[in-house]
Amino acid sequence: MKETNQEKTVVEAGSAGENAQQAQAVHCLLCEQGVMKRATIRPYNQLLGYFSLIVGLMFFLLGPFAPLGMVLVFVALYLILSKKDVWLCDKCGAMVERL
Ligand SMILES: [Zn+2]
Repeated sequence: MKETNQEKTVVEAGSAGENAQQAQAVHCLLCEQGVMKRATIRPYNQLLGYFSLIVGLMFFLLGPFAPLGMVLVFVALYLILSKKDVWLCDKCGAMVERL
């Protein structure tokens, strides 16, 4: 039996401008020594998100409040799953929103 391992090559779709941006290091505006690194953070309070999720599920189980529970669960999922792209300084920890 022959096993064919087809390696899938990941082609990153990126414009020329994006590649140029990656090539040059962005220095931190605050400490001017650190290099800004691309990072992804969660902008909302995760505890609040999980708290809403639990309260929402509880409401969901209490028949009459099911619609309210569903809304709370959706809000909770939004809070938990939201991501934000930022530049993060590796020296002082300064954070700048990536636009
Ligand atoms: Zn810095």
